[in-house]
Amino acid sequence: MHVTAIIAAGGVGRRVGAAIPKQLLEIGGRTMLERTVSAFTSHPRIADVIVAVPAEVAAAPPSWLSRHGSVRVVAGGLRRQDSVAAAFDRVPAASDIVLVHDAARPFVSADLIGRCIDAAAAFGGAIAALPASDTVKRVVAGDAAPVIDATLPRESIYLAQTPQAFQRAVLSAAVELGRSGVEGTDEASLAERAGHAVRVVEGDPANVKITTPEDLENAQRKSAPSLSETARVGIGYDLHRLVSGRPLVLGGVTIPFEKGADGHSDADVVCHAITDAILGAACRGDIGVHFPDSDPQWKGASSVLLLQRAAGVVREAGYDISQVDVVVILERPKIAPFKDAIRRCLADALGIAIEHVSMKGKTNEGVDAIGRGEAIAAHAVAVIQRSSFLRSSFIVHR
Ligand code: MG
Repeated sequence: MHVTAIIAAGGVGRRVGAAIPKQLLEIGGRTMLERTVSAFTSHPRIADVIVAVPAEVAAAPPSWLSRHGSVRVVAGGLRRQDSVAAAFDRVPAASDIVLVHDAARPFVSADLIGRCIDAAAAFGGAIAALPASDTVKRVVAGDAAPVIDATLPRESIYLAQTPQAFQRAVLSAAVELGRSGVEGTDEASLAERAGHAVRVVEGDPANVKITTPEDLENAQRKSAPSLSETARVGIGYDLHRLVSGRPLVLGGVTIPFEKGADGHSDADVVCHAITDAILGAACRGDIGVHFPDSDPQWKGASSVLLLQRAAGVVREAGYDISQVDVVVILERPKIAPFKDAIRRCLADALGIAIEHVSMKGKTNEGVDAIGRGEAIAAHAVAVIQRSSFLRSSFIVHR
């Protein structure tokens, strides 16, 4: 069975409020038209696609459209039926089934396309439609507001979508009727008037038509990249020996204790673990790469400074730091009284709000070197997010 799809994209759709035809507006980085066309070019049962676009677009089609082997571009007309008629002239003679789909429905599913093809093959003509879920009122003009004339039986009301699919001869009769001067808002109404029964197949609520600025905004929100495409996670770990005669510095805060962490810098395990976590999330190496032991400028340096610098590296790589969480493992002393001061210091170094910095303490239950009080360790997790995400994904551009 040879199936051809016609995409009606000839209108200018100014109701959406943009300066360019609405089918050329972007949703999640691809134009509406591109999304719609690719739903058909990628469908295993569609042999060819004919796209009716405004004449100026047909004269210089976008490269993604013109380089697609199975796509033909034609200049559409003023009315939808004129565009479909122009496209129908290019339908191959071998075509058994022809689908007509509105470019303003970019979320059409492969299943729905398949259902329409099957029904048209079986019955001659079929359209996707949804049963009305609200009570339907017929109204007449009133003095101040419309007045209800009748409440229609909801069971008999269906809201038409596209695709609308037809055996070639049926669509041919509909197109001829349209050419003879009869007006129809869709191909099904012309086919009906040409004497053909048109069936209804179950439409898809997700197959929305984008008509108003609100529709476009909703579609863009729906198509925004998911968290996994924009957020990244990093992990960090650090351990230092505890020795006498050194201050115990955690997250930039000096904690009174008889021992401190031994190390090249101030041996702040909290800052070191978080530094590795944020660098890791951005895939920008680790603390040793950016602040090597061999470099005298880091000898005795405050690790808060290293953390600040690492946060700068992450930002330069195009990310914002969303959140960090750290767990410190030490037997003594209790760090709970210093927790908020540490979080404050870390938040300042990272340039984020304190609500996005979490820290907790654990003991090692007397087990191993940490349990014997010979060492202190910290584990950290950081979440970072593409800084351009929020700014770019909701902007409409060509
Ligand atoms: Mg360290």
